[in-house]
Amino acid sequence: MKSPSIQSNTSNISEEKAVKIAVARGDGIGPEIMDATLKILDAAGAGIKPEFIDVGNAVYLSGNSSGITADAWDVIRKNKIILKSPITTPQGKGYKSLNVTLRKSLGLFANVRPVMSLSPFVQTHFPEMDVVVIRENEEDLYAGIEHQQTEDVVQCLKLITRPGCERIVRYAFEYAQAYDRSKVTCMVKDNIMKLTDGLFHKVFDEIGAEYPEIKKEVQIIDIATARLASRPEDYDVIVTSNLYGDIISDVAAEIVGSVGLAGSANIGTEVAMFEAIHGSAPDIAGLNLANPSGLINAAVMMLAHIGQQTVADRVKNAWLATIEHGYHTTDIFTQGRSTKKVSTDDFADQVIARL
Ligand code: NAD
Repeated sequence: MKSPSIQSNTSNISEEKAVKIAVARGDGIGPEIMDATLKILDAAGAGIKPEFIDVGNAVYLSGNSSGITADAWDVIRKNKIILKSPITTPQGKGYKSLNVTLRKSLGLFANVRPVMSLSPFVQTHFPEMDVVVIRENEEDLYAGIEHQQTEDVVQCLKLITRPGCERIVRYAFEYAQAYDRSKVTCMVKDNIMKLTDGLFHKVFDEIGAEYPEIKKEVQIIDIATARLASRPEDYDVIVTSNLYGDIISDVAAEIVGSVGLAGSANIGTEVAMFEAIHGSAPDIAGLNLANPSGLINAAVMMLAHIGQQTVADRVKNAWLATIEHGYHTTDIFTQGRSTKKVSTDDFADQVIARL
C-alpha cells in the first residue's frame, strides 16, 4: 500500500466547536451510502453537525423543476460546506440537473478527483496508478446553454472563458505544488476546437511558465484517454475542461477497480461541496450493496478542508485497513483476493471497528 499510515489520536472535537454542514442524502443509493458515512464520521469523533436539506427526486416530483427548495439554499449559504449523496436527474424536458445548478450557482469552479490504486488488495492492472483529475466545473458544454433550433436541430454551446481557464489552471499548478506532485498534464481537443480548447491550451502554457519546477505536457483528449487506460502510471495531475474531466475521472476510477471508490471535492471561493464521483446507481438502490467508499473519501476531503486533519487521517486509515483486510462490497469483490463480500452497512461497521 502506497499511502503512509498516519497515527491518529483519540481526542474528539467538542460539541461547541462542531462545524455545521449541509447534508443531502440524495436518492437511489444516496441514503444508504450517506447513512454509512455519517455513522463512521460520528464514531471517528468528527466535529460536524449535519443539517439535512431537501434536494433531488422528491423535490423534483413535487413540481420544483430545479430540484432544490428555498430552505435548502438558506442552509447551504449559511453553512458553506455541503456533503452530498448522488441525485438522479429526472429524464425529460424542463428538469435542470441539480448537480450542475449547485456547481454553477455556488461558483464551485474546481472539481478535484483523486484516484489511487489499492493494489494488491483491489484488483487492477496498474498497481502504481496515482492520479488527480482537476476538472473545470462551471463552463464548457455543461454551462447549460442549449437551444431547440428547429424540431430536428438542437444546439448546445461550449462556453470557455479566459478567467475560467486561468482559475482552474492556476488551481491545478498550486495543487501540484502543495501536494508535491511533479507533473501537470493538460488535456484538450484544440486540433479541432481551435478557439475554445485553444484558449485552454494557451492559458495552460502561460500559467505553467510560472511554475518552472513542475513538468508540463499537453495531450489531445482522445489519445490521452486511451493512454490513461493503457499507461495510467504516466499521469500525475491532470487539468482539463468540464466534460472531458467528467469522463476521464470515471475511466480512472474504473481502472483502479470501481467508480464506487473515488470521492471528489467541488471547491469555490466561499462554498465547498464534497461528493462521490458516481451517480445514484438506480440498478442497485435499496439493496444494501453499494460501495460507500466514494462518499467516505469525499468526507475525508471535507474534514481536511474544515481543518480536522486528525479525524480525516483516522477515517482514511480505518477505511484503508478495511480494504486491506479484504472486506469488499460486490463491485470490488474478487474471489481469492477478497476475504468477505460485505453489504454497505457491514462495510461501515468494519471501518468503525478499525478507527
Ligand atoms: P452511476 O454512476 O449511477 O452508475 C453506473 C454503474 O456503476 C452502475 O452499474 C452502478 O450500479 C455502478 N455504481 C455506481 N456507484 C456505485 C457504488 N457506490 N457501488 C457499487 N456500484 C456502483 O451512473 P448512471 O447510471 O449513468 O447514473 C444514474 C443517475 O445518477 C442519473 O440520473 C445521473 O444523472 C445521476 N448522476 C448523479 C451524479 C451526482 O449526483 N453527482 C453524478 C453522476 C450521475
